[in-house]
Amino acid sequence: MTPLIDTHGRHIRYIRISITDRCNFRCRYCMPPEGIEWIPHEEIMSYEEFLRILRICVPRGVEKVRITGGEPLVRKDLCGFIESIKCIDGLKELSLTTNGILLPSLAPALKRSGLDRVNISLDTLDRDKFSFITRVNAYEQTIEGIRTALKYEFSPVKINVVAIRGFNDDEIPAFAELTVNSPIEVRFIELMPMGCASKYGDHEVICSQEIRDIIEERYGALDPVDYKLGPAKVFRIRGAKGKIGLIGALSECSFCSSCNRIRITANGHLRPCLFSDDHIDLLTPIRNGISDSELERLIEKGVELKQHDHGLCVGKPDHPYQGCETLMNTIGG
Ligand code: SAM
Ligand code: SF4
Repeated sequence: MTPLIDTHGRHIRYIRISITDRCNFRCRYCMPPEGIEWIPHEEIMSYEEFLRILRICVPRGVEKVRITGGEPLVRKDLCGFIESIKCIDGLKELSLTTNGILLPSLAPALKRSGLDRVNISLDTLDRDKFSFITRVNAYEQTIEGIRTALKYEFSPVKINVVAIRGFNDDEIPAFAELTVNSPIEVRFIELMPMGCASKYGDHEVICSQEIRDIIEERYGALDPVDYKLGPAKVFRIRGAKGKIGLIGALSECSFCSSCNRIRITANGHLRPCLFSDDHIDLLTPIRNGISDSELERLIEKGVELKQHDHGLCVGKPDHPYQGCETLMNTIGG
């Protein structure tokens, strides 16, 4: 097996696939309320096309696949797709990121089809603030989605919280508290300057270190947890059942050095970096009848495009806070 290694020596072990750009929420930092230019249906990758890419990448050392979107649970026949991914020899983990509202009805079938883990996005524990940030009145369904995920033992269930100053900074201790008695991992994500979130300013980003300080002020020093794959730093409140993850995408200098992932968008673009509009179109050559070995070479080319780092940094005058134009629902986070 020849691993997929980029020009900076990072071994690609993780692929995120965005299976749709459609979503039943309109989170303010992710999508505009209306006037969205959807990817035309005929330009959305079929499940078979995604599988073809994965069947090339897994034997090259990719161990983890995450399904995302848009909202992945709105796409039809997802469970059959999950079953097919799980049949790929060598894959260690298949996970999904969701806003959670369809989990109460879909969790049993997802479990049966072999899905290992779920991340559920929840930025506030307040019903009204939830309606504000998502522009949808669905707080109860999302909470029920989290309960259902725990019931069906998608282990561990992770909660993604995008930290935004002036919106949910006052809730950081309450989110941390959730990990004390429950085996969940709460992951605080720095607000990233993508598409819609470009309207937010530097001052609205809460850096990972500040989040850690807020939690430690309440609970004392956090214990680091050994966590191998990826750029999250993981901690535990002493004696807690769950964990706390800090994703310092913009503030942590070491973030890019541990980046082991590539992304495939719903329209088949391989994106080497979340923060760059650089991409390689895989869908057109696939539909034009490219051979497997030519497709593999194209994927290698995409991996080679990975930059040393994203070049963005919060609070540094020589690296102004600016990101790419593509909307996050197209890339998948
Ligand atoms: N719809 C699903 C969900 O919300 O979980 C999956 C897709 S969503 C694009 C994936 C993740 O990206 C979510 O956790 C979401 O909060 C996060 N996200 C979206 N826009 C973001 C931004 N500008 N900065 C940081 N995280 C963002
Ligand atoms: Fe939809 Fe997820 Fe974006 Fe919210 S973050 S609008 S749920 S894709």
